Amino acid sequence: MVSLSIFFFILGTVVGSFLNVIIYRIPKGMSIVKPGSHCPNCGTPIRFYDNIPIISYIILKGKCRTCGSRISPVYPIVEGLTGLVFLSIFIKFHWSIPIVIKYLILSSLLIAISLIDFQEKVIPDILTIPWIGVGLLATLLIKDLPILQVLLSTVISGFFLWILRVIFSKLILKREALGEGDIFLIMLIGSFAGLWGVYLSLLLGSIIALVAHLIFPDKLKGEIPFGPFLSMGAFIGILTL
Ligand SMILES: [Zn+2]
Repeated sequence: MVSLSIFFFILGTVVGSFLNVIIYRIPKGMSIVKPGSHCPNCGTPIRFYDNIPIISYIILKGKCRTCGSRISPVYPIVEGLTGLVFLSIFIKFHWSIPIVIKYLILSSLLIAISLIDFQEKVIPDILTIPWIGVGLLATLLIKDLPILQVLLSTVISGFFLWILRVIFSKLILKREALGEGDIFLIMLIGSFAGLWGVYLSLLLGSIIALVAHLIFPDKLKGEIPFGPFLSMGAFIGILTL
């Protein structure tokens, strides 16, 4: 159990390193495989020994080995966060590796979606729409949740947010509220984590968003990305399934 826990933490940091690539490249429309990782400042390819999650950042003191320009601390934070998320999912579902894998896939998507939505105020469809099918198929095969309940949660949650979007955008705020991306995000959560996932995502997501809005009123003025908050609520939902 201990050695497997360490394994899942390290696996999480490696996946986190890949999520960094996705977070950086998908909004720019770049390929996620080519070219290999390189310094955004001087363009030097990053050698494998400088690409070890978290550790390389510490050894290099957060600077590029060639040109010395600063590397964003977001990279090691995403790696460490993904490691902790993987560790907690393994501990929660350790009795079934298929269930562990199912929720590792969902959490990896949620991390990438949260960071992209926070930075770019957009949720790329490629990280939600095709994965709703994957979530439904995984639930159908693993049978960890009743498929009919999961299917209904997926459809109804999407419809519910669509109604909210129409009400808020057209009638109350008279501007874009709740992006289309949020609708596919809640459906993604429903397809993997069913009714409980959707419920906690909406409930806790709204509460966390409200609290964050009260603490940082200036920073969150204007367009508030809802994706990170829905994701946080969904993650708590997964851990309390
Ligand atoms: Zn450089």
